[in-house]
Amino acid sequence: MKIAMIGTGYVGLVSGVCFSDFGHEVVCVDKHEGKIAGLREGRIPIYEPGLDALLARNVAEGRLSFTTDLREAVDGADAVFIAVGTPSRRGDGHADLSYVYAAAKEIAEAATAPTTVVTKSTVPVGTNREVARILRETRPDMTFAVASNPEFLREGAAIEDFMKPDRVVVGLDGHSDLARATMADIYKPLFLREFPIVYTDLESAEMIKYAANAFLAIKITFINEVAALCEKVGADVKAVSKGIGLDGRIGSKFLHAGPGYGGSCFPKDTNAFAQTGQDFGQPLRLVESTITVNDAVKARMVDKILALAGGSLQGKSVAVLGVTFKPNTDDMRDAPSLAIVPALQAAGATIRAVDPQGRREGEHLLPGVQWSEDPYSAAEGAHMVVVLTEWNQFRALDLKRLAGGMAEPRMADLRNVYGPDEARAAGFLAYDAVGRQGFG
Ligand code: NAD
Repeated sequence: MKIAMIGTGYVGLVSGVCFSDFGHEVVCVDKHEGKIAGLREGRIPIYEPGLDALLARNVAEGRLSFTTDLREAVDGADAVFIAVGTPSRRGDGHADLSYVYAAAKEIAEAATAPTTVVTKSTVPVGTNREVARILRETRPDMTFAVASNPEFLREGAAIEDFMKPDRVVVGLDGHSDLARATMADIYKPLFLREFPIVYTDLESAEMIKYAANAFLAIKITFINEVAALCEKVGADVKAVSKGIGLDGRIGSKFLHAGPGYGGSCFPKDTNAFAQTGQDFGQPLRLVESTITVNDAVKARMVDKILALAGGSLQGKSVAVLGVTFKPNTDDMRDAPSLAIVPALQAAGATIRAVDPQGRREGEHLLPGVQWSEDPYSAAEGAHMVVVLTEWNQFRALDLKRLAGGMAEPRMADLRNVYGPDEARAAGFLAYDAVGRQGFG
């Protein structure tokens, strides 16, 4: 199969590389010239474990290439995937679909033969029908089939998720045999290994993606709310998570209390889903509450840090370990650090941060922050250390050494990596976590 991938970001690049590894011929397109020039020289614009080797192999074997020229990629393609961004529209939380619709128009203008246009971007109900309308209107002389194929990969584990998905969802326009056959051919290598494929209509496929993300956001937010109550009543949220997660109906994933969800998907997708509910006169009250509670969770983290510092951070130095929204990615979009770090600065603190991959983005997004190469130098002379992202590098620190270098050894462990006993034994004067009892 010949595939054109429009948009070479986190999703487009991983999908393009993995499809080429299935044996398809893939051309990845992006408007960003620097990105494409870099990729042509083997430079990967994002941090995603394992992606560099897989990309290099498929380029070397002649199945994968990169271009800024959409026409060249669409020419002769059996399927054209749209994997452009769908960020929150400024002001109202709706998904901004302008990139998707612009891509659809460009694809229609470029098409030289009937093709299947597949939306991989996360898009609200009705978008694929609008894509179909744009294709028809732009090129009444050409036949297009449309499919919705939402992506469920997680940054940091994207290749594994793409190659071994829990399921593949394909939404079809009822009468499109071409789209169904094309999608079946593209994903055939997976079905040989018997990963489930859910064929459905366009609207249901669009809903599945938002409902899945909203459910996960609700689950995280639920345990974050339970964590706040645990602190009040003297319970330990880690034990509570384990105790409820072992129930097969609940499951243990997404039950880790922390500083609130962030990232490139959950915040914007919960907002867009809530807006869809409002638009159709069917408010999604659980989703709306989740958005509000998640904002409050981040604010609660700031209060926690202030309380641990004795009520004031004026003139104090705080070491922040981790700024990306989760480990194993360089993605900073809507990371909790973007709310928490400025709030600490506003309270008078000087911030020294360290992150294995987040510095490049963090330098733009977190003005006034000083950057260190390792956690020990970040904490040197600090009055507080905040564990904000649970990178492996921060999970097995020599706490004695860390505390030894600090002006006032206090720790806000917002990912529950350590525990009060460990912190006390290492010489910390004060320790607080999420949903557990601290001291000091
Ligand atoms: P991204 O911002 O990393 O990448 C989008 C890319 O599209 C950019 O490089 C941009 O330059 C390019 N682009 C925009 N318009 C273009 C055009 N007309 N022609 C060529 N290139 C164009 O975004 P992302 O994180 O990869 O997300 C893409 C979509 O996938 C979004 O809808 C997102 O919600 C969804 N998604 C993301 C993830 C994730 O973990 N990042 C997971 C599942 C789904």
